[in-house]
Amino acid sequence: MNAFFHIDQARDLDRQDSLAKFRALFHLPVWDGKEVIYLTGNSLGLQPKGTSAAILQELEDWKNLGVEGHFHAQRPWMPYHEFLTDSLARLAGAKTSEVVAMGSLTANLHTALASFYRPNAERPAILCEAKAFPSDRYALVSQLEWHGYREADLIEVHGQSEDGVPTDEDILEAIERHGSRVATLLIGGVNYFTGRLYDMERITRAAQAHGIVVGWDLAHAMGNVPLKLHEWGVDFAAWCSYKYLNAGPGGTAGLFVHERHHEVSLPRLAGWWGHNKSSRFQMGPTFDPIPSAEAWQVSNAPVLSMAAQRASLDVFDQVDMDAHRKKGLDLSLRCMEMLEALSAELGEPMELLTPRNDAARGCQVSVKFLQRDRHFFDALVKQGVVADWREPGTIRMAFIPLYSSYEDLARLEQILRLTLAS
Ligand SMILES: *Cc1c(COP(=O)(O)O)cnc(C)c1O
Repeated sequence: MNAFFHIDQARDLDRQDSLAKFRALFHLPVWDGKEVIYLTGNSLGLQPKGTSAAILQELEDWKNLGVEGHFHAQRPWMPYHEFLTDSLARLAGAKTSEVVAMGSLTANLHTALASFYRPNAERPAILCEAKAFPSDRYALVSQLEWHGYREADLIEVHGQSEDGVPTDEDILEAIERHGSRVATLLIGGVNYFTGRLYDMERITRAAQAHGIVVGWDLAHAMGNVPLKLHEWGVDFAAWCSYKYLNAGPGGTAGLFVHERHHEVSLPRLAGWWGHNKSSRFQMGPTFDPIPSAEAWQVSNAPVLSMAAQRASLDVFDQVDMDAHRKKGLDLSLRCMEMLEALSAELGEPMELLTPRNDAARGCQVSVKFLQRDRHFFDALVKQGVVADWREPGTIRMAFIPLYSSYEDLARLEQILRLTLAS
């Protein structure tokens, strides 16, 4: 069969890949006796093989110790979230005091905005990107209304391209134009639809120079692209753990709060798990916040869910993140080149929504097949290609450096070639 990317070349690259060994640490779904080509790690990451043992350990400790597990479990439940902190801090580019595993993503955005969206008549607005993930938009509009402002005070920065997603330049220009009216900026660091990665450092600094408080939604960035939240001076950020972090459906999310906000008394939505650990169980009436991101914790840790995340972070702990970044860029670039070659060869019109340059993307590729409908996508799924479909005509595929292989890409090409030709 014709091929742009040959299976032998793919296998050679897999043999040379220093991260190839990590694939064996994950359960690859098997359909009809064959491993699928799993391209939806940006939606739900695969299960690490260590996950069930990690959860079973907590069930065992609960069974045998009851409430004493809070202190005497193999990993005591009382400080359980702390077992995730070092690994998350490394991935976020943060100090350990600046990150905490807690809650769920949208809820964490609200929790953070309670402290970091403080509008007034001169500065009522929130600035975000057009085509943000719907939950983020709902959250932002509800925040505006909660404070007595209107949906019109949400400044959505539109891009010039058809997909509507703005570039760095579009956002920087909007900051210049609207900066004095904006209280808070909140943008997805990697756009969920196109896979565009923003220059978070540059945008953060430009916005802060206008007196704007800056937050990032890192749902598609944590575990995907390099982050240096501390160094960039980001005020706050939140992420979920079930996408690139492989912590399982609905897994415990995370929050970053820059250390400059730890000792100041910000308004917040408080709960007992944010209270000074040494006096928490004196059950006093007055909230005494922990001087770290932990102060934003509302409730005690969901241990079973965090156990799954611990198992996943055990894998990340062994990974050279520079090699991880390089592999994600390489696989996704080869995929884009393969798609362009197929498009030219077969006369199949398609459009890449993901930027080509490395600085503006992670490992996701979004491609729009201009003359194809859902039947085309369903035919791919039948052949074991697990990607995702968004109307109109768009397929999103993520090449996860921990478990995607070059052979996956070569097999994908073969299936695409046959399906497009039929
Ligand atoms: C996946 C995703 C969410 C999901 O929110 P949950 O609160 O975890 O359900 C929100 N925002 C963005 C940008 C996402 O990519």
